Amino acid sequence: MPLIVQKFGGTSVADTQKILAAARKAIRAQQQGNQVVMVVSAMGHNTDMLVELAEQITDRPSGREMDMLLSTGEQVSVALMAMAIQSLGAKAISLTGAQIGIKTDSTHTKARIQSISTERMQRFLDAGNIVIAAGFQGIDEDFNITTLGRGGSDTTAVALAAVLRADTCEIYTDVDGVYTTDPRVLPEARRVKQISYDEMLELASLGAGVMHSRSIEFGKKFSVPIHVRSSFSDITGTMIVASPEAANQAVCGAALVRDEARITIEGVPDRPGFSYAIFSKIAARRIAVDMIVQNIGAEGRATISFTVPKEELPNALEATNEAAKEISAKAVTFDEEVAKVSVVGLGMAEQTGVAQKMFRALAEAGINIQAITTSEIKISVLCHRDQASSALRVVHKVFGLENEPANKLQPNAILPHGNGNTALEVVRHLQGMEDLTIDEITLDESQGRVTLLGIPDQPGLAAAVFEEIAAAGVFVDMIVQSFGQNSTASISFTVQQSDMPRSIETAERLAKRFGCAGVSSSPKVAKLSVLGIGIRSNTSVAMRIFQSLSEVGINVDIMSTSEVRLNVVVDGNKGKEALAILQQVFEPAR
Ligand code: ASP
Ligand code: MG
Repeated sequence: MPLIVQKFGGTSVADTQKILAAARKAIRAQQQGNQVVMVVSAMGHNTDMLVELAEQITDRPSGREMDMLLSTGEQVSVALMAMAIQSLGAKAISLTGAQIGIKTDSTHTKARIQSISTERMQRFLDAGNIVIAAGFQGIDEDFNITTLGRGGSDTTAVALAAVLRADTCEIYTDVDGVYTTDPRVLPEARRVKQISYDEMLELASLGAGVMHSRSIEFGKKFSVPIHVRSSFSDITGTMIVASPEAANQAVCGAALVRDEARITIEGVPDRPGFSYAIFSKIAARRIAVDMIVQNIGAEGRATISFTVPKEELPNALEATNEAAKEISAKAVTFDEEVAKVSVVGLGMAEQTGVAQKMFRALAEAGINIQAITTSEIKISVLCHRDQASSALRVVHKVFGLENEPANKLQPNAILPHGNGNTALEVVRHLQGMEDLTIDEITLDESQGRVTLLGIPDQPGLAAAVFEEIAAAGVFVDMIVQSFGQNSTASISFTVQQSDMPRSIETAERLAKRFGCAGVSSSPKVAKLSVLGIGIRSNTSVAMRIFQSLSEVGINVDIMSTSEVRLNVVVDGNKGKEALAILQQVFEPAR
């Protein structure tokens, strides 16, 4: 019998009428011949209220007691949901995380799932019950209640769908699907019919707040088709599956993170280990670093910029200043008025011209790009916060995101669930269900690097550079523009070695035209990529790369990160050595 998991978020169970409406949806799904597992969040803003109560008592509640408290929100809603279903004449049973057997580690308030047992749920399902599972909670080895982090019910839902090998995981929420960008910011945003896991992962981590990113990681790992839809209507929402909405679509969505702060360390002696020195200090303060832009600078000195959530700035600056002293950097600067605008699309990995189209559109709108970082399927730029909304509008428009894509995919492009995994395989995966997975570590020795040093800080420069490079028929892979005051900023990009002469020629011409300080290049670089799932949510990945390479004296020239990969560029003669080291470091995660 087909099995579906239906998850109802806080707004979908905010009052008893809504609970009854959700109950009817589950009963209908059961009557249509499905076994149904519901995952329910706490009612409305209950979790926030519980957090406030704790704050009224102490600003340092113990993690264990916090979890004891927060888990009650979901316990209320599962019980009411079971009563609602029973009152409507169907069979239902509510279960807490512990009763289901969701085992987690002991990291209170952000625990990671270690295993889930299915027998109990399956037994109740086979007896004709709708099983109602409390979202967001689990239990550790010592029977302590744990929670999975705010928004964690999505993760419970997708995880249950994975272990039960459900046919679909429906996420009922207060929006009717995934949009090309936040419709509250841009009314012209379009609801997409389908989006790939990778695109959704990137968008979720770049500011599209629809779903908990860890839940999409699960979806991808276990090929669970996820259907995001409205709890207040019956219209079809958005399917999150393996393939994108349309073939050859360069960009599928745009996202904005408005409240960022940038920190830049300039004049860093370009020696192995400085990134590690900086980021280990930041990590020790548990600050999540967002965009990292590292680039080669003039006179053997590097610049490294990164962004943190605005409210973390004071803390992050303290750590950075400490690090700067240690590594004898020249200066630390910051800006609290920045925002990050990104575009995402699987298709951009194979197409030329995507970056320059974005840069040109921004230049024409008079928007100055302060920093750039790209990975295979996303481009992010930093701009002034005052221009954030107009920047988002401009990029949304230039990629025609408000229009249905022309090359529609066939609906059967949706992969069947489970990827043919046997139950045994899924259970084996469960041993370390939320562990970092490294799929592959690759070495690309076919590229060279070109850097324009000392670029003036004015709109239109990046657009001109990449238009001219494209006009020369060159495909650009990585692009990094670092921030720097007083003309210490630079733009680096990598191209195939055979394209180096043309690229250098073009760069030199542009350097003259724009009054840049000069051009530097490296005829052969080694690009190493670590691919997998959880690359950014497991913050240790970047740290382990920086540390292990610096220990053997390998310098990272440029780097870029995304949810699904981290790229570093090192000296062309060090590629094989670096590969061997990274393979050794990440072996246990493979
Ligand atoms: N109730 C929890 C929260 O508000 C979990 C969830 O809703 O996903 O974060
Ligand atoms: Mg939520």
